[in-house]
Amino acid sequence: MSKNIQATPVASISEAARAFVAKPRKMLIDGDWVDAISGKTLSTFDPSNGDAITTVPAAAGADIDAAVRAARRAFQSAEWRNLRPVDRELLLLRLADEIEARGDEFSELECLDNGKSLVLARRVDLKNTVEFLRYIAGWATKIEGSTIDVSLPRPRDGTYFAYTRKEPIGVVGAIIPWNFPLMMAAWKIGPALATGCTIVLKPAEETPLTALLLGELIEKVGYPRGVVNIVTGTGIDAGAPLAAHPGIDKIAFTGSTEVGKLVGKAAMDNMTRASLELGGKSPVIVLEDADPHAVISGAASAIFFNQGQACTAGSRLYVHKRLFDQVIGGIADKAAKMKLGSGLDPATQIAPLISERQRDRVWSYIEAGKAQGARAVAGAARPDNSGYFVEPTVFVDADQKMRIVQEEIFGPVLVAIPFEDVNEVTEMANDSPYGLGASIWSHDLSKIHRLIPRIRAGTVWVNCHNMIDPALPFGGFKQSGIGREMGRAVIDMYTENKSVCMAI
Ligand code: NDP
Repeated sequence: MSKNIQATPVASISEAARAFVAKPRKMLIDGDWVDAISGKTLSTFDPSNGDAITTVPAAAGADIDAAVRAARRAFQSAEWRNLRPVDRELLLLRLADEIEARGDEFSELECLDNGKSLVLARRVDLKNTVEFLRYIAGWATKIEGSTIDVSLPRPRDGTYFAYTRKEPIGVVGAIIPWNFPLMMAAWKIGPALATGCTIVLKPAEETPLTALLLGELIEKVGYPRGVVNIVTGTGIDAGAPLAAHPGIDKIAFTGSTEVGKLVGKAAMDNMTRASLELGGKSPVIVLEDADPHAVISGAASAIFFNQGQACTAGSRLYVHKRLFDQVIGGIADKAAKMKLGSGLDPATQIAPLISERQRDRVWSYIEAGKAQGARAVAGAARPDNSGYFVEPTVFVDADQKMRIVQEEIFGPVLVAIPFEDVNEVTEMANDSPYGLGASIWSHDLSKIHRLIPRIRAGTVWVNCHNMIDPALPFGGFKQSGIGREMGRAVIDMYTENKSVCMAI
């Protein structure tokens, strides 16, 4: 039996957000708001009902080329290069203030374009964006090299003075996905601007709106022309030429592992530096002594947060046999009670997925799970609605080889497997091509500390999941990517090391 879905009219968004989508949008190249050279456009859709919202330019190779040239000119301009670190810090702080002041508009546009809950857009996307920009602003004044005592043969009556400088890497190409559009834009633009780089950003074709509003504020706070360029278009027509452009010095990509590999290979042809934040299939490991009530709510939110459209979604749940029935019963019960609806409805707990394509993709995994013998104890029914909804679904009777255990689904689909001992669960948790995140649920400090180093993942949470902080490096082991975002680590991703050796 599928759930009843309430439709909330779009009229409940503010005048400002409505005005933003009331006309076709343009993209930002070299300080000008322009159409694509071809004149072609793309529509963006409201996932709660499939209606078109507005159009954006459909950029292609020539537009990308213009944006990269603008970013190069800006990178070399005295106006940008001579800005003091403290001025770069101040610009980013002002940008954060402006975004915060327009927070309602950003959250509403995100909700409209991505489909996500407005509450989540405010509490997670907007809040993280503002806090991240404030955090990374501080790094602009804290970029340091070191002095090094070298052992070279000394010149007569002389010696050497050697040191390293960290210099901006140059022109950055950034390609981002649709699951946290504003936040992902900030995660790329923030470190680029803090370190003195310039950037060409391509948002996902499904969610270009908040990046374009961000572009308006970037202009408003006074960034020189060409420092930030925002190009809209498809992955094939705009993303691929950006990744392969010989005029960029670094590509920063977030998205699927499949496309990440293409981007990485294209970058390598030009020896372009690349950081890749890719897919995940994060295990949630519940040891025998865990508090089942905390696990039920923690594991449910680990997977159902943002409709499961998070690279760190806790999509594989491994529960000790003693707790398995209680925990799965509790999560299934929660899933069955979750309210599906438009993101604009404050009571909504499961909003639509991003697109028809993504809904069908997730649905094909649900079918594959059933066909391979897994049993759904919640969800797995198709909602009868024009929006892109998928019911929160929980599978049991699964084994490690099934597609629903091995592949990234990127939807509200959980698969649960029981275990008996820690070695067995460690092996299952690591039996994945991915290694982005993992969580351990227990109060046994000794077991937890012994398990953490054995988990092959970029982040391990304990008694929590999906906790992302601007100061904590974030990124993947294995096929979950290369490089780290946030923290001190991200500064290394946007700078080159220069060694200087002077005979004095
Ligand atoms: P993609 O990896 O295709 O998209 C991410 C970004 O890459 C988008 O801006 C996209 O543009 C762009 N892109 C697509 N093809 C190319 C290309 N050949 N060269 C350069 N850039 C390109 O993710 P999808 O949106 O297709 O989602 C598919 C699956 O990927 C999801 O089901 C999920 O499993 C995974 N995914 C993982 C994410 C993560 O954070 N780990 C985020 C998003 C998706 P455009 O949108 O215009 O195609």
